[in-house]
Amino acid sequence: MKSLNFLANSNTKNRQFAVIGLGRFGRAVCASLHKMGYEVLGTDIDERLVNQALTQRIASHAIQLDSTEPESLKEAGIFEMDTVIVAIGNYLQESIITTLNVKEAGVEQVVSKASSEIHGKVLRRVGADRVVFPEYEAGCALASNLTQPAFLDRFELDIENSIVEVLVPREFHNQTLSQLDLRKRFGLNVLAIGNGEKFITNPNPSQVLKEGLVMVVIGSNKNLQRLPL
Ligand code: ATP
Repeated sequence: MKSLNFLANSNTKNRQFAVIGLGRFGRAVCASLHKMGYEVLGTDIDERLVNQALTQRIASHAIQLDSTEPESLKEAGIFEMDTVIVAIGNYLQESIITTLNVKEAGVEQVVSKASSEIHGKVLRRVGADRVVFPEYEAGCALASNLTQPAFLDRFELDIENSIVEVLVPREFHNQTLSQLDLRKRFGLNVLAIGNGEKFITNPNPSQVLKEGLVMVVIGSNKNLQRLPL
């Protein structure tokens, strides 16, 4: 499942994050959060990766620690974070113990990377609030992007329904939502309209659509395919 910019933008800015494991995935999470202006603490058992994170400035702070040791996590302040990302995919035992440690210590949101379905199941059992399968998700996203390039982003609600971000089709230019009547014609609802940075949510029926703007639309995948993109 992917997140939409539209949804991500609604998060508060002062959340604090810790990323445990600075492999390719962990580094990417760290760097993206840091770039967006969030406080991020990066940690790894490998000192070389910790130093690299500091020199490349991909985190606000970086500490070398063994995340299977609750004391080390506590000392580093990991338990005070709002969200902890356990980015250890290949070391099953370490990934499971770390997830258990942070969840048991009361961290509100724990997101853990899984390398297989069974690994994901175990992570959920030990308390992960969200389990991600980056390689699988990237593969699905690529396939969707190759076949539906017009969808800028997509949030799958379930197997049949999605919320998508799309550019306003040329055909819709200068028409109001009530003129377009997307609910009746396509079985779709427009949740928001914006320029990619700022959105108007629950737009009025009198809202005029312009080519180049982005609309966030909810509906069945079947109906979404019918948009004239
Ligand atoms: P990817 O690049 O796809 O993220 P990777 O092979 O780099 O995969 P993993 O093997 O999943 O990543 O490991 C991620 C990081 O987790 C590694 O840099 C590793 O040093 C770190 N790590 C492993 N065990 C621990 C631990 N007990 N405490 C802290 N960090 C750990």
